[in-house]
Amino acid sequence: MALKLGGRVTDSLGVVVLTGASGGIGRATAVALARAGFTLALVGRAPSGLAQTLGAVQAIGGKAEAFEQDVTDYPELEGLVHSIATRLGTVVGLVNNAGFAMVSPLEQMPLADFERVLAVNLTAVLALTQQVIPYLRAHGGGVIVNMASIAGVRTFPQWGAYCASKFGLVALSRTLAQELRLDGIRVTTLCPGAVDTPLWNDLDPAGYDRSRMLSPETVAQLVVQIFTLPAQAVLEEAILMPAGGAL
Ligand code: NAD
Repeated sequence: MALKLGGRVTDSLGVVVLTGASGGIGRATAVALARAGFTLALVGRAPSGLAQTLGAVQAIGGKAEAFEQDVTDYPELEGLVHSIATRLGTVVGLVNNAGFAMVSPLEQMPLADFERVLAVNLTAVLALTQQVIPYLRAHGGGVIVNMASIAGVRTFPQWGAYCASKFGLVALSRTLAQELRLDGIRVTTLCPGAVDTPLWNDLDPAGYDRSRMLSPETVAQLVVQIFTLPAQAVLEEAILMPAGGAL
């Protein structure tokens, strides 16, 4: 266990690789996991957002380092994970959180946009997970949380590309859970409903009541619970919805 002296984390429960760490759910998850005693490898594209997340972790006495990386640069990911393990130590977990949405009727959606959504939300998850698995196995097990969505179990008009990517991610994540179970690697598919994050900033600002959405901190709280379950237990899937009627 991490020892907390005067609020500072003095030992680590191991390293968690967290993508999409530069804001939203990623930042809240970084702070919550750091508070629980994990060391964070903060992976993201936006340097200023990453620096803010790093500052937020350090402000609570947590340990983290930022790694600027687009997760769709697949050939870079092997070196990324190697450098994380070399700099920070034993990798015990992965949160595949990076993701984005583009909304359009499918009939009109440019195929390049469709493929970009699939690349970030689906293919990149597999690419990074493939690189992290050997480290978890070497450790004797670990936890992988895949940030899917309610859009991975229900469809919504205009959100076809996003839904296709998240339905795909649910299938990928369930299959990984089956394939990795015997290695002590516990895979959780997390499907939140609407969360009030920058993801919504460019999407019809008038159309959504953000005050009724989940907070990123609530999602982060569940991620910490997943990571701190006894090693004999796994939360395979969770749908976390706003209680107040938002999607
Ligand atoms: P966000 O836009 O605040 O965060 C997404 C993060 O992913 C950003 O930090 C962004 O820089 C990063 N990212 C995007 N493309 C990337 C790439 N190619 N390489 C590296 N990083 C990249 O949004 P959020 O709501 O915090 O989203 C986090 C995850 O939660 C996403 O997977 C999203 O689909 C999922 N989710 C969000 C909601 C919601 O309502 N906000 C609901 C369910 C699931």
